[in-house]
Amino acid sequence: MGQKIIARTLSEAIEALAKYDCNIVAGGSDIMLQKRNTAGELPRFEKDVLFIANIEELHKEYVDEEGLHIGATMTLEEILRHELTPNVLKDCLKELASVNIRHFATLPGNIANASPAGDTIVVDILLDAKLKLTSIRGVRYVSAEDFVQGVRKIDLAKDELIEEIIFPKYDFDKLIWFKVGSRKAESISKLAFAAAYKLDGEKIASIRLAFGSVFMKAIRSHELEKELEGMSLKELGSRVEEFTEKYGKVISPIDDQRSTKSYRLEVTKNIVRDFLTTLAKGGN
Ligand SMILES: Cc1cc2nc3c(=O)[nH]c(=O)nc-3n(C[C@H](O)[C@H](O)[C@H](O)COP(=O)(O)OP(=O)(O)OC[C@H]3O[C@@H](n4cnc5c(N)ncnc54)[C@H](O)[C@@H]3O)c2cc1C
Repeated sequence: MGQKIIARTLSEAIEALAKYDCNIVAGGSDIMLQKRNTAGELPRFEKDVLFIANIEELHKEYVDEEGLHIGATMTLEEILRHELTPNVLKDCLKELASVNIRHFATLPGNIANASPAGDTIVVDILLDAKLKLTSIRGVRYVSAEDFVQGVRKIDLAKDELIEEIIFPKYDFDKLIWFKVGSRKAESISKLAFAAAYKLDGEKIASIRLAFGSVFMKAIRSHELEKELEGMSLKELGSRVEEFTEKYGKVISPIDDQRSTKSYRLEVTKNIVRDFLTTLAKGGN
């Protein structure tokens, strides 16, 4: 391992990133495992290591006219307990890892890890979240959907860090989170589903469906959402099977140690079918 830098302020962190080639460590719950060494030895980092968990100015969650801001050093457990956190994100966090891991893991760590099974990424893209990326060159914003480009591939320059995640204001009647795992606690997703909709009388005013663990990254279909928007619930009732099949084509599940491709495809289709059938009856 190279040098170890413990940043106490955002400017210390971005100056270190500009100067050295660093691995950022927030909670460490992903990266420490990736860099683990043989039993009893310290993790093996090839680069310098920048610890950011002590940056107090990023330890905040607040709302302004832009929406909800969650700072990079808020832990998942703090976010879960925070009164401003949307219920759909709380539902996701309740099932993420375990209390002890949630006490140090963070939201930016989950998205920057860019695992297809990263749970909070599904909620990020459902809510059109954007990331504030900061470096000594300045600030830029990128949507959560564009930030993750593939498995372990992210749109983050070497000198940037995620300062905060911003959830714009939204207006839905209902938001849903659903995770399929081997068991309730400490279980990595075989499949994750989040959805939101707003009705205008008997019509769908707006709708979003997001999926995790069924593609190389969390995914939504803006095309299918546009097709559904404006549709009457009666028409939806007669087209549930058609849209279930269409969503089946959007996703491209993988075989891995947790599940098979065909299981993931069938379960996704069952979830979409149930969700649309309930919605066609007026939701609940
Ligand atoms: C037993 C166990 C169970 C788990 N269960 C789940 C689960 O159910 N669902 C799930 O989604 N995940 C799960 N995880 C994975 C992990 O806990 C989460 O992904 C967590 O949110 C990672 O956050 P962290 O702060 O610990 O990230 P770290 O390990 O510190 O970092 C992860 C990556 O993000 C980068 N990074 C961190 N912060 C920033 C930042 N501010 N700016 C730029 N880059 C940054 C790091 O450089 C690294 O590449 C589990 C892990 C364990 C060990």
